[in-house]
Amino acid sequence: MKQFITLLLILFALGCKQNNQSQKGTDLDNKVETVLAKMNLKEKIGQMTQVTLDVVSRDSSGKVVDPHQIDTAKLNKAILDYQVGSILNVPTHAFTREHWLEIMTAIQNTSNKTRLKIPVIYGIDAIHGVTYTVGSTLFPQQIAVAATWNTQLAKQAAAVTAYETRASYIPWDFSPLADLGRNQAWPRIYETFGEDVFIAKSFTKAVVEGYQGDDMSDKYKMAACLKHYVGYSFPLSGKDRTPAWIPERFLQEYFLPSFASGVNTGAATIMVNSSEINGIPVHADYHILTEILRNQLGFKGIAVSDWEDIKSLQTRHHVAKTQKDAVKMSVMAGIDMSMVPFDFTFADTLLALVNEGKVPEWRINEAVRRILRVKIQLGLFDTLFYKKEDYPKFGSDEFRQINLQAATECITLLKNQANVLPLPKSAKVLVTGFSANSMRCLNGGWSYTWQGERTDEFAKDKNTILRAIKAKIGDEKVVYDEGVTYDAEVNMEKTIADAKNADYIVLCLGENSYTETPGNIADLYLPYIQGEFARQLAKVGKPIILVLTEGRPRLISKFDKEMNAILMAYLPGNEGGNAIADIIFGDANPSGKLPFTYPQHPNALENYDAKYSDFMMGYSQPQFPFGFGLSYTKFEYSDLKVNKNDFALKDSIEISVKVANKGSRDGKEVVQLYISDLYASITPPVKRLRGFEKINIKAGEAQTVSFKISTDDLAFVAQNNRWITEPGDFIISIEKLTQKFVVK
Ligand code: BGC
Repeated sequence: MKQFITLLLILFALGCKQNNQSQKGTDLDNKVETVLAKMNLKEKIGQMTQVTLDVVSRDSSGKVVDPHQIDTAKLNKAILDYQVGSILNVPTHAFTREHWLEIMTAIQNTSNKTRLKIPVIYGIDAIHGVTYTVGSTLFPQQIAVAATWNTQLAKQAAAVTAYETRASYIPWDFSPLADLGRNQAWPRIYETFGEDVFIAKSFTKAVVEGYQGDDMSDKYKMAACLKHYVGYSFPLSGKDRTPAWIPERFLQEYFLPSFASGVNTGAATIMVNSSEINGIPVHADYHILTEILRNQLGFKGIAVSDWEDIKSLQTRHHVAKTQKDAVKMSVMAGIDMSMVPFDFTFADTLLALVNEGKVPEWRINEAVRRILRVKIQLGLFDTLFYKKEDYPKFGSDEFRQINLQAATECITLLKNQANVLPLPKSAKVLVTGFSANSMRCLNGGWSYTWQGERTDEFAKDKNTILRAIKAKIGDEKVVYDEGVTYDAEVNMEKTIADAKNADYIVLCLGENSYTETPGNIADLYLPYIQGEFARQLAKVGKPIILVLTEGRPRLISKFDKEMNAILMAYLPGNEGGNAIADIIFGDANPSGKLPFTYPQHPNALENYDAKYSDFMMGYSQPQFPFGFGLSYTKFEYSDLKVNKNDFALKDSIEISVKVANKGSRDGKEVVQLYISDLYASITPPVKRLRGFEKINIKAGEAQTVSFKISTDDLAFVAQNNRWITEPGDFIISIEKLTQKFVVK
């Protein structure tokens, strides 16, 4: 009876929640319709237009003044004449919060002068923290966040970013990247959550939750933007914005789930892939933008174009003969807002198209409804931005601690020959390499500027690897030589001489900052001189700790054997130097695991979930496998159990395993659940990650970790492009333990 009453109460509460939600939905729709009904065509088309800050900023001899200053006449033209709905910024210079406030105040005051006072929505790339605000908390880049395998931490970091973005008076963030990073050469790998579908789904959900919370109008929350929908990350050439070939089946099974996860979590907006799939630019693809995005995924928010990409339908893709064709194609395919971004041609052209009857007004209304909806959900009609005093924690030590934890948990120990690490604090250390004393190398692109080239100026009070090591063991024990730049020698001979007097060498190699097309490379090996430097140093005979700061796995197979320890730091952000020093000297125990396969050879850019034939016909041994990462303690797995041997379709599968910390240090371990489908109608991958959990185990203690999945989680996309779980034999593997089960 008691149970029955509890059940009734739960059902009642659920009913109330649903009623509240549908009431909220109706209120929102009513508000949208009320505004829409008052709008004329020009105002509607203005809402669909997004321009960059440059367009409304002062210039001097044709060059925008830096930092940007609002030009009132230009702002009036954009907002009062064209009624633009959105402005975005890509400054060459991070602004102070005060400067952002000036800009936002000017924009708000101007939108208040329009007939309907519809607020302008400002969007920004806050990619690993608030990229363009001085003093913000710059976290590890997304790939490094994935390497923590800690979704709670990712959510916490995202919440800090939302807080600091709103503290910069901005309500819309072009993040997270839901693109799957399956081509290691692609320059935006570091902006992804790596190669695995399950990880990308889990982290996309966590980050959208952290950004948006339950109520985007909250002063500490903002609108997320899933990008770049879809297939952007898999160019055949490995170069940015080049063609991808992705069959529908593969698109559905691999590239869509992370977007679906973000949509189901309520992501308010989506940005479209600049590139093409199977010969069709995504900005002109009705199937992808409407049939899949709206009808299949049920997305209700704004689909915004990427940078100048409607124009690109003519200029880059050559599928539209004229700009007019380009605008018509993209709007009819399903784009709601055009990131034009340099002029008002989109608005003029679209107005002409509607007046000529070539684009129906219902399509304009549909797009504007979506835009108004997000503006209302963000509370912009009531409060465009909150007060400076509302954000006492901006750039605070509390946020720095979360950042330090994220940086520490991402760093992945890939090699530790003879347990050379951790080093004693009494040691004399040579710190060298081009990334040893660089904040730019720790942060990568999207840091204070688009390409991140001015990071050392903006983050001068933060610790590079060198400064952090000095702070930890004392200046007198540390010698520093740059040795090499990214691709040229500086003082190799002197460095080698200094190496002879050191007990250990901390060699910091990797990449310079970049994003998008400037990050394209023709050779995945680290530049020759970096490898040569490593080999020459190794000849000295002192133990070398190689620290890699890089946005993608640059090949190291020509010198890895000479390295005694290897730490993969990815792009760990402003606390990266401190985290690396903590790990090198044993104040922290590494717990990161690779979110991608680290290739060994340039013609073997493989992923872990390869097919049986891949393995039989020559899958090459990667440098380090997906999911790999060592610890200073030792974990032992035992007692892998499954609740049954035979399952019916829709059954839940309960799996447990015991993990013991057999070492002498506390440590965090990522328990990874893989399942293999032995035979299927579509060639099955040898294994797929179906669950993971990061746990903290004290030295000498053990924990049991449980997973509950459904047979639905074993599904794949069949020949008819639909999801199916086929009955058959499966194998679970966790670490080296395996268990068979059958689905009947
Ligand atoms: C990038 C997007 C970014 C946009 C706005 C584009 O070039 O592809 O990721 O959000 O610019 O800065």
